[in-house]
This record gives sequence, C-alpha cells and structure tokens, in this order.
Amino acid sequence: MSDEIGVAVLGLGNVGSQVVRIIEESAADLTARIGAPLVIRGIGVRRVDADRGVPVGLLTDDIEALVSRDDVDIVVELMGPVEPARKAILAALEQGKSVVTANKALMAVSAGKLAEAAEKAHVDLYFEAAVAGAIPVIRPLTQSLAGDTVLRVAGIVNGTTNYILSEMDSTGADYSSALADASALGYAEADPTADVEGYDAAAKAAILASIAFHTRVTADDVYREGITKVSAADFASARALGCTIKLLAICERLTTGKGKQQVSARVYPALVPLEHPLASVNGAFNAVVVEAEAAGRLMFYGQGAGGAPTASAVLGDLVMAARNRVQGGRGPRESKYAKLPVAPIGVIPTRYYVNMNVADRPGVLSAVSAEFSKREVSIAEVRQEGMVDEEGQRCGARIVVVTHQATDAALSETVAALADLDVVQSINSVLRMEGTSE
Ligand code: NAP
Repeated sequence: MSDEIGVAVLGLGNVGSQVVRIIEESAADLTARIGAPLVIRGIGVRRVDADRGVPVGLLTDDIEALVSRDDVDIVVELMGPVEPARKAILAALEQGKSVVTANKALMAVSAGKLAEAAEKAHVDLYFEAAVAGAIPVIRPLTQSLAGDTVLRVAGIVNGTTNYILSEMDSTGADYSSALADASALGYAEADPTADVEGYDAAAKAAILASIAFHTRVTADDVYREGITKVSAADFASARALGCTIKLLAICERLTTGKGKQQVSARVYPALVPLEHPLASVNGAFNAVVVEAEAAGRLMFYGQGAGGAPTASAVLGDLVMAARNRVQGGRGPRESKYAKLPVAPIGVIPTRYYVNMNVADRPGVLSAVSAEFSKREVSIAEVRQEGMVDEEGQRCGARIVVVTHQATDAALSETVAALADLDVVQSINSVLRMEGTSE
C-alpha cells in the first residue's frame, strides 16, 4: 500500500457535498481500488461559518493556500463558474497537482490553456463530469474510440431544456408555463438563460467536438440557438409530421466538395422523428449518440445532472488520477493534432421546417414554392390548413413546409424572400429537422 493521496475539494455545493460523502463512505473500497488511501486535506468554500456536516477544521475560504499545500496531490474543482476556478486550477497544475473538474463553462473556453499547463507539469486534467453528468462520454471518446474515426456526436446534453420541451410535448403547454413548472420543480435556475438560450449545451458541444475530432473547438465556435421561441403550435405541427422537438448539440465531421475535412459544432432545437433514439429521451435525462467509422452507432443514456450522479463521474476521474499517482504515469493528454477548421453555419446542410401564415387566396402556394425553388431548396412536404378569426370568419391559412437537405445560407435567403411576399402574413417559425437522411 502506498502513501496517502491528499485531495483538496474546492466547492461543497450540490456536487462537492456528494463527492465528499462518497469519499468518506467508500473509503475502504476506494483505497483498495487505488492502492492508497484518499485523504481530504481541505475543502474550499465561500462561507466557512455555515453548518456543512463536515469537520469545521477542513473548511477554508483561502483557495490559493489550500491548492498550494504540499500535502495536496489532487485538486477537485467543483465551484464553477469560470473564475475563480480557472485561477485555482492553473495554480494547482503549475504546482504539479492533478486536477479533476466538472466545470463545463471553464473547459469550453480555456481547455487549451489548462491542457498545456497539465502537459508542462506532467499531471492529469480530467473533466468527465463537465458533459452529461453521470454519463461516461469523455472517456469513451478519448480512450475506447481512440483507434476509430468519430463521424458525428449528437446529444441531448441539457436536462432543463429537455424537461421543458418534454412537458410542452406531453401536455400541449406553451413555453412560459413549461418553464414555470420546471422552475417550481427545481429543474430550472432562477436565471435560466444559460440553459434556455443554449449556452450550457454549446459549452458541452465545444468540449465534445474538441475531443471527438482532435481539434480545439471553443464555445465561441459553436453556432447556438435556444428554445425560447419554440411554440405549442410547433409541437402540434411536429406531431403531425411524426416528430417531436429536442434541443440538440451536434458535432460533425464534414468533407467539403474539394475533399477537405472540417468540423461543425452547433446547438439548436430540431424536429426529431419519433423513431429516432433521441426522441424518447424525456424529462431531465441526457443522451449522447456517437457515430464512428468502424464502431457504428453507440448510445449513452442517463442522468445528466444532479449532485450524486455528477459526483459519480467526478469520483471516476479522481480514482483514475489517484491510480496514476500511485502507479506513476499519466492518462491521455489533449489530442489536437488534426487542427480541423470549424465550418460556418451557412454551409451546413440540414432539412428545415418552415411554419408561416399566408393569405387564403389562389396562387399563394405556387408563390411560396417559387421562392424555395429559386434558391434550389427542394420541398419534401407541404401541409396547409385554413384559419378562422374570433368571429369564425376565414382569415388566412397556415402553411408548413418541410424541405429536403439545404444549406443554412440558402434557407435563410428563402425565408427572407418569403417574408417580403405580399401573400405571407408572418413567418411563425423556422426549425431544423435532424435524424433523417433525405
Ligand atoms: P453549487 O451548489 O453552487 O456549489 C458551489 C460551491 O462552490 C459552494 O460550496 C460555494 O461555497 C463554492 N464556491 C463558489 N464560489 C467560490 C469562491 N469564490 N470561493 C470559494 N468557494 C466558492 O454548484 P454545483 O451545482 O455543486 O456545481 C459545481 C460545479 O459542477 C459547476 O462547475 C457546475 O457547472 C458543475 N456541474 C454541476 C452539475 C449539477 O448537477 N449541479 C452537473 C454537472 C456539472 P458556499 O457553499 O460557501 O457558497
């Protein structure tokens, strides 16, 4: 049995408190698995005087001093957000400590700098919990699929938005009342912007794309749309088309016409056919589908957030980092050799769903279809229904157009031209359709 492995835990909130609990409750098993006992040297918090259920002597608000202690071998960062976490992690790495973090916001903007610091100090930097909570997805991508070529990673990686969209689908609720329900049940934060505007999912897409394609992709490279404009009418139309609507994070390897490889990373709400595996991922659950050249399609499903599930992923990383300390050596380093360019959203081909209100008179459909065909956007399906006003008088029609694959640039031009047509009263929504190949 080796000497103790000293651990500093930064943060004792939802995740940190569960990590500390598991380290204490499973001490004997963890010692056997690692080959040395894990000993918590200190826990960094803001409020040292609050009652935490841990020995008061372990608590400190001096993060810098805790990270710098000679008897700390591994720092587990569970404070969020970007600062002061970045400063603490960099200090830890520079002093030769391995680091485990669940901080997706930080990893999405600073993974490169942190990986370089880890490389220089020959220590580990692990972040399995930063994407999809308990679900193992970083390690399968970096290790299990290290010999394969990943083509696509598509997932539901934000539980809050998935809960809201699942509610809208199953109850017919509109966005505001589904958000209010999510807040009342604790699934949405007081300020839900990071979730509902897609920032959280974009951070995870950046991390996934970087790992899957051996290329540095940051949150700023990820095209992002949130779910705030998805309406109950969109769900009704989606159902009529045999689909539901999900907020997807998509990372894709693309080959241009000239045979050059690019990557795409994007987050948006999309229609997904009910038979697609992601369509049945409901509530606060997450799922990630990976498609690799030799392996084919793999699916990872489970709890994407929550104190204990996230702590499970953190503990997995902590055990790996501790084993490396005991046995010598390191886990896999950052792999960025491919350096693929990130494709702009304009060139990405997807199918589209366009929902618009039009005048109820002859020739409208042909005027609408002409705008699509002028830009070579091929129409796969059109649905039209009459609308009546409060007095029961006919007041126009709603047209839903589903296209075959078209580029974002061609579709955006088409939508702008449609909006200028006299016969189009309003463009109600434009959503992409994923999970079909046409
Ligand atoms: P949390 O409940 O808000 O806890 C944050 C903890 O960090 C608190 O104990 C807080 O101290 C401490 N802290 C914050 N700023 C600090 C500072 N400047 N100095 C010292 N201590 C500080 O957060 P959480 O939900 O556990 O999340 C932690 C991390 O895990 C975040 O990066 C988050 O994105 C990530 N994550 C969370 C989940 C999840 O389900 N919660 C899932 C995946 C990843 P006080 O207690 O004194 O305020």
